Amino acid sequence: MINVIDLVKNFGKNEVLKNISTSINKGDVVAIIGPSGSGKSTLLRCLNKLEEPTSGKIMVGDIDITSPKVNILKVRQKIGMVFQHFHLFPHMTVLENIIYAPMTVKELKKDVAIEKADELLNKVGLFEKRDSYPNRLSGGQKQRVAIARALAMEPEIMLFDEPTSALDPEMVKEVLSVMKDLAETGMTMAIVTHEMGFAREVADRVLFLDQGFLLEEAHPKEFFQNPTTSRAKEFLEKVL
Ligand code: ADP
Ligand code: MG
Repeated sequence: MINVIDLVKNFGKNEVLKNISTSINKGDVVAIIGPSGSGKSTLLRCLNKLEEPTSGKIMVGDIDITSPKVNILKVRQKIGMVFQHFHLFPHMTVLENIIYAPMTVKELKKDVAIEKADELLNKVGLFEKRDSYPNRLSGGQKQRVAIARALAMEPEIMLFDEPTSALDPEMVKEVLSVMKDLAETGMTMAIVTHEMGFAREVADRVLFLDQGFLLEEAHPKEFFQNPTTSRAKEFLEKVL
């Protein structure tokens, strides 16, 4: 579904992604882990061109998104993204947050969009909050709304950038549980996370980044039990 070939990303003279090649197949749940500053967010953001790759190629399905001719808005419709800090529209209710893009981008009729939104709100356990504004919600609730909002566009792949890092500990579980349910539906997912338990349990594959290098790519069982690089060993000793 996504093919990354020799991806390099520079910010000025700072090369933050160094010849990354990997692929994400349909239904894969890929956990991207590594120290702060290793390039995890930049890698994720390159996948929907929130960052412009410096060189290399990224294929989303059969579309080369690094081609200057690409209609990136069209490609982004297939790719849902969830951020650490939710990014909900503060002046819209929960329901309005969810129906906005389907109505404006996909031109869905309001009643159809609402029906879909209600279904998603039930899925993330927030139907009773549909008419609340984001500032009335807890962090965990906000993040579940953000997930429902992304899903309302019926994406083929979901990208998560540290979705639980801004949450109080007691709210981490409710968000991970929604993500786990989503993984079980067969959704293709790439997740930057520090939740090692979640990565171990839910991911099919772990990518370990360090200083812009993709140092390891393995099944979680393999990666957590037998990391092959000393950098990964050191990292795991610190976080586990
Ligand atoms: P991670 O998500 O693993 O913590 P990032 O992808 O955010 O790492 O950052 C990787 C490197 O790129 C860091 O050195 C960071 O300072 C740098 N960087 C990230 N975004 C920008 C930007 N917009 N401009 C300049 N440097 C950036
Ligand atoms: Mg990051």
